[in-house]
Amino acid sequence: MRDVRYLDQSGVYTLSDLIEDMMRRGVTVYLCEMHEEPSEILAELEVAPGTLPVEQIFATVEGAVEKAARQAAGETSAQEPTKPEEALFSWVSVHPIGANEALERLIVGNQRYVRGQSLHPHTNPATRRVLVEEQRPFAVILGCSDARSVPELVFDQGIGELFVVRVAGNIMTLENNASIEYAVKFLVVWLVVVPGHQGCSAVDAVIDDNVDHSEVILNALEPAVEQARDMPGDLLTNAIQTNAHLVAAKLKEELAEFTEGDPDRMPRIIPAYYHLDSGKVDLMEK
Ligand SMILES: [Zn+2]
Repeated sequence: MRDVRYLDQSGVYTLSDLIEDMMRRGVTVYLCEMHEEPSEILAELEVAPGTLPVEQIFATVEGAVEKAARQAAGETSAQEPTKPEEALFSWVSVHPIGANEALERLIVGNQRYVRGQSLHPHTNPATRRVLVEEQRPFAVILGCSDARSVPELVFDQGIGELFVVRVAGNIMTLENNASIEYAVKFLVVWLVVVPGHQGCSAVDAVIDDNVDHSEVILNALEPAVEQARDMPGDLLTNAIQTNAHLVAAKLKEELAEFTEGDPDRMPRIIPAYYHLDSGKVDLMEK
């Protein structure tokens, strides 16, 4: 595609017929080196990605050759995501996904982060362009504003993948709730994760009765701290985890109202605990 600077509609359909025909014959087709305009037209008409899986579309010929070689040597499967720096399209532009697959992506991304093998996927210029018209995040994260608890890094996700709401102490507010409702209703997101984090200073401020945080935040965290006082073990950790549970439960209530009690419209809501030291996120779904 390196010599094709413009494609009209009939050219696109001819190309799509050709791709389909070759794939039917068992040929593995890679698209590489597409100029901006043809790639946008192909995306708009859902030919690529679409007819051709996103894993077979590359920014450069070298990327495709390398993947084909690795695949031939049995080192990778055809479905394995293309390295982000080689990808021309992001999978997010084509796949709305359910709660289970969304959770799997978060878990696998967090495992990469824990190992120090983050891919920082879907952050390249092509992904930016594809996502100009719309966002299709696959998970909502209601996290703390703490500078050390950054969802896109912790779950190793890229642009357009996480719908993030952050506020000190990851508390529920009217505005948070409205933001999450928007993601559930209009962006069709099926998974909401509420991660508290190790050493949350907002929760600690309630325990220490200090005034480092605004009263609005402290009052919202008070019930979690009170509940945690009777628990065995570390009070701060227990209070942070209890807060994540309480916020998730409250969110479930709020969303139940908005989904009119229809369980088929209810997203999965999971409280979690993020370890600042190991980088691991523990899911605390009951
Ligand atoms: Zn915090």
